[in-house]
Amino acid sequence: MEWSADNIALIENSLRKGGLTMTTIHNLGFPRIGVQRELKHAVEAYWAGKQDAAALENVGRELRARHWQVQASAGVAHVPVGDFAWYDQILEWTTTLGAVPARFGQPEGAPVSLDTLFRMGRGRAPTGTPAAACEMTKWFDTNYHYIVPELTPGQTFRIARESLFDQVREAQALGHDVKPVIPGPLTWLWLGKGDSFGAGAGDEGKLALLEALLPVYEDVLARLAKLGVAWVQVDEPVLVLDLPPAWKQAFQAVYARLAASPVKLLLATYFGGLRDNLQWAAALPVAGLHVDLVRAPDQLQPVLAALGKDKVLSAGVINGRNIWRADLDAAQALLAPAAAALGERLWVAPSCSLLHVPVDLAKESGLDAELRGWLSFATQKLDELSLLARALGGSPDPAAQRALAAQRDALAARRQSPRIHNPAVAARLAKIQAVSRDRAPFAERIAAQQAALSLPAYPTTTIGSFPQTAEIRGLRRDWKSGALGDAAYEEAIRAEIERVVRFQEKAGLDVLVHGEPERNDMVEYFGELLAGFAFTQNGWVQSYGSRCVKPPIIFGDVARPAPMTVGWSAYAQSLTSKPMKGMLTGPVTILQWSFVRDDQPRQETCRQLALALRDEVVDLEQAGIRVIQIDEPAFREGLPLRRDDWRAYLDWAVDCFRLSTAGVRDDTQIHTHMCYSEFNDIIASIAAMDADVITIETSRSNMELLEAFEDFSYPNDIGPGVYDIHSPNVPEVDWMVGLMKKAASRLPKERLWVNPDCGLKTRAWPETEAALASMVEAARQLRQAA
Ligand code: GLN
Ligand code: ZN
Repeated sequence: MEWSADNIALIENSLRKGGLTMTTIHNLGFPRIGVQRELKHAVEAYWAGKQDAAALENVGRELRARHWQVQASAGVAHVPVGDFAWYDQILEWTTTLGAVPARFGQPEGAPVSLDTLFRMGRGRAPTGTPAAACEMTKWFDTNYHYIVPELTPGQTFRIARESLFDQVREAQALGHDVKPVIPGPLTWLWLGKGDSFGAGAGDEGKLALLEALLPVYEDVLARLAKLGVAWVQVDEPVLVLDLPPAWKQAFQAVYARLAASPVKLLLATYFGGLRDNLQWAAALPVAGLHVDLVRAPDQLQPVLAALGKDKVLSAGVINGRNIWRADLDAAQALLAPAAAALGERLWVAPSCSLLHVPVDLAKESGLDAELRGWLSFATQKLDELSLLARALGGSPDPAAQRALAAQRDALAARRQSPRIHNPAVAARLAKIQAVSRDRAPFAERIAAQQAALSLPAYPTTTIGSFPQTAEIRGLRRDWKSGALGDAAYEEAIRAEIERVVRFQEKAGLDVLVHGEPERNDMVEYFGELLAGFAFTQNGWVQSYGSRCVKPPIIFGDVARPAPMTVGWSAYAQSLTSKPMKGMLTGPVTILQWSFVRDDQPRQETCRQLALALRDEVVDLEQAGIRVIQIDEPAFREGLPLRRDDWRAYLDWAVDCFRLSTAGVRDDTQIHTHMCYSEFNDIIASIAAMDADVITIETSRSNMELLEAFEDFSYPNDIGPGVYDIHSPNVPEVDWMVGLMKKAASRLPKERLWVNPDCGLKTRAWPETEAALASMVEAARQLRQAA
């Protein structure tokens, strides 16, 4: 029997007659990209002028219809509407509110067009004048990026797009009971930025905009009510953050006012516990509250106590941030008291929107059956919810009982699988405290390194990758598909390495790199060579706009069956007498950009990664590589949402970096790279990583962001990026000299390196050659002036 909305209703009725209640299941949001990334392909074709707006609208409509159907068939009551977005859900809402920055030339009073939305997201669209895109930044602690609302004092708002209402009607016409989903006013303001406001998200000045904003919220809610909508989900994930007092007060005032609206509000919080916000947030005058019980199961009891006697509790018990099958017995045990206490007022849901997981496991034909049995993507998570609701109802039908038993078996099999447990890794981890994390003091190391490397003042280097031409990507593709044999592939990659080495020698760079032509992606490359990783064929997750990523899955103990980079690096070193830098991705970054196992703490997995990398570092050293870079671009984004949790994270993250690097001699130089520049809060931990050289992004901030390093008297070497690799523009020599002089006014010049902001893989050769030639010239002038 199909588990459709209709027979849910039937069963609900029969259960009620028998004195039982059926727990409502609902969903906070569904991935919009489509299982074949249809949305990506459609918007990209539209941007390229290969498909018109009507065709694009059709694809959107089809995807929405399909996704609503998937949800309704799983028994989801009130399917979410408003989770669909052409580019980003915050941008959808920003344009709905009419908050379009002046440079996009939005005519007053006119509806905001789709092309204006695209221009805000990416600077250009098939029609309209190109303008600087709005800033994009990470969505809480996920790898999704949203478009930052731009705020100005005195700004006005109005309903400037109809898409939300249109989509409500669209879903209703398909027979669905809908629950619109909108960002809450406080979360939207918190995420916004403006020159007239402080840099911190919590700037109080932004709250003054509420006066103009709230009437538009009231209008939206009134219009939704007119469409027959009963529930509206208002997302306020900022409730899991450290909120300044003014924001806490604003929550009370805002929801006291919105309580008068003619719909029921479900206030949704996710990505963590409410903690100090729990008492008052649970008492806000809304009809329902959603809480994340995956990240914070302990908050169930206090939430129940604070909830009041009429409110619906939506319990987020299926992990919306990871891809493992859920332990439904544990979820049932957790929720049983709540089900008894709340009856029909208990709803169950994923912990957060399913935006952060791939669409459908059924499309994964490449995974072996055992591994597949452990996994659950968005579509499967809804089936899990449905099962959980039936289990909570007390008398699951035979089909549900069979499904529950199968789920139990799959989990038990996973726990015992020899594919997860590697005794050698366990034995090594048991003795991890004895593994050294300490090297000699930096002063001793750098002296030994200078003797070994004899580098000039202001040494020049690059971050690792060189242009990845279509030809190189073609080589890798053909080799993977088997069209190109191992020997031919190796020969072609070697030729590319030689070309990159010869170029760097000619350009006069001091520490060379091999260019990374063998790497598709800095995490995937290592994941494919390490044990304990699996890769999906279609496990796409939206990262930003039309861009999707396919995170590896770390399912078991991580081990390194064989060296991963030594062959390529040793070959590159054999071509030159200059030092060749070995190039690795750090443990925290590999962890951060993968789906990680949920059966052990994250730091445990990170330590396993660190030990595997340590072996690689030692092998590189033994192969004659004297400079080794361990990239940690995701180090900062791993920071927990709450300050109280920072210390613990930073301690293990720093420890893992040191574990991976401390196996080398004093005269082997360890570099790290982080492509951002906000170090104010974490500079002590960056220093504690104790890399000999750190390269960072600074060119766009005019070296001002070196202040954190200056104030801390950062002791080790540092390479502040002198030009922005995101732009094809060739930087001027004088400009780079000027930047380095600014750097030298903040930090000892003996500690400074000269390098670009990040890797060059997205650049083309001509501009790369010109830019690096200018950069080397800048270093030469700096040395002369010194
Ligand atoms: N070594 C990598 C590269 O050069 C670093 C990439 C990054 O920082 N994201 O591409
Ligand atoms: Zn970078």
